[in-house]
Amino acid sequence: MNGQTQIQTTDAVSPVSRLPSIDTRTNIFDFDRARLERFFEEELGEKPFRAHQVMKWIHHRYVTDFAEMTDLGKVLRSKLEERARIHAPQVIFEKTSLDDTRKWLLGMDAKNAIETVYIPDKGRGTLCVSSQVGCALNCAFCSTGAQGFNRNLSTAEIIGQVWVAARALGNVPHQQRKLTNVVMMGMGEPLANFDNVVRAMSIMRDDYGYGLANKRVTLSTAGMVPQIDRLAQESDVSLAVSLHAPFDELRTQLMPINKKYPLATLIDACVRYAQRKKGESVTFEYTLMQGVNDQPEHARALVKLLQDFDRRVQMQDAAKINLIPFNPFPGTQFQRPSDAAIRDFQRLLNAAGRIAPVRRTRGDDIDAACGQLKGQVVDRTPRSARIRKQQQAREAARGAV
Ligand code: SAH
Repeated sequence: MNGQTQIQTTDAVSPVSRLPSIDTRTNIFDFDRARLERFFEEELGEKPFRAHQVMKWIHHRYVTDFAEMTDLGKVLRSKLEERARIHAPQVIFEKTSLDDTRKWLLGMDAKNAIETVYIPDKGRGTLCVSSQVGCALNCAFCSTGAQGFNRNLSTAEIIGQVWVAARALGNVPHQQRKLTNVVMMGMGEPLANFDNVVRAMSIMRDDYGYGLANKRVTLSTAGMVPQIDRLAQESDVSLAVSLHAPFDELRTQLMPINKKYPLATLIDACVRYAQRKKGESVTFEYTLMQGVNDQPEHARALVKLLQDFDRRVQMQDAAKINLIPFNPFPGTQFQRPSDAAIRDFQRLLNAAGRIAPVRRTRGDDIDAACGQLKGQVVDRTPRSARIRKQQQAREAARGAV
């Protein structure tokens, strides 16, 4: 993705037709099962099982026209037509990498677009889904952060990414699963868009949606502590936390959110999450940057942090660690460590009994790797905040390298 992609808009003849047409009908994609049942009962005076039929048409057969839903009566179909619509994100382009990773640029509104990535692997297919247009957290090593923030995605725009990919892949839930896992690791901070993300994840796990097991839907956060606690209560998904540094000072340089929720507070919340979801582990992601966080002292401190976590949760391997080699993007001051340095770091963790898989870089020829997603974001943060942010990023890079 080169950031040059323009969204095609049609040139209208009359000034009126140039105005965007505002469709006020409810978008069914915004509803999870509970809400859709309520819509059928309360708004349409229908039985809730009708909601299940409609969900199956949409998420299992990729039908978005009520007229084609032949097991609904004619009267109901026209009632639905009047009150509701089924509107998926618009595909601006799709690219396939040499390693079969696929990436879609999806238009969210006239000016903004986000990216969704599909990573096929032996026996599984993982979709990396975005939660926001841009990101406000400003992590020093992430290209999404460098672009600024525009807005949260709606439930429809989040589940719409799964729908577009599943349809393109020919996924048949419960039968021919091309899509076996979803990770909320695309653009944005999912816990900063809590309600919409949780609702979309419930459709991913619903039998009338994509039927994914709880364990196969993973939410990744930079560490929004109160929302981690809320997630523990309101949803049943796997939790991944972007750690990237075992020391507060370094972590704050890399991730400004660490100032608000420092390591001890963050780890406490992760312990509470693991305790609540008995038997489930928490995955810590660690992006390796050359000369920044890849030294033996970092590995040793990381081992201690993971061991303390296991001890507190009273479960072996309650803390999992995933190593991600840094993926460069234009303008970044960080570098990926050499393969040998990555192996050395991994060995130190292995020696302490940690598996520590290194996430293979996938799709980097189409800029689809972790931290490379850019989409097209009209930054709406005020100019002063933007300048401050750029300064902070420069300082962070200077301090950290
Ligand atoms: N906001 C969420 C999810 C987004 S990113 C979070 O912070 O967890 C998914 C993962 O990719 C995170 O662990 C993120 O820190 C990491 N990442 C971001 N930029 C990267 C880069 N340039 N190279 C490698 N990993 C990166």
